[in-house]
Amino acid sequence: MKRRGRGKIGIVHTSCKRCSKPLVMTNRSIYGAYVAKTIYEQICSSCITSEEHHDLLRAQAGAILENGSSQK
Ligand SMILES: [Zn+2]
Repeated sequence: MKRRGRGKIGIVHTSCKRCSKPLVMTNRSIYGAYVAKTIYEQICSSCITSEEHHDLLRAQAGAILENGSSQK
């Protein structure tokens, strides 16, 4: 499948910034929430605070709404 204007999404292995637990993330934001992804994707679910998690979800939700017509 070809997507115009978007590179393909790859998997990147990284580690949690806080506990060094191995993490797998996409090298691109699926939902376009670049800022939130950059900050929070390198923090595992055990280390992220509820406040940070809420912030991430909110950023993703906003991006989904913006991209809703072009995303599945
Ligand atoms: Zn962690």
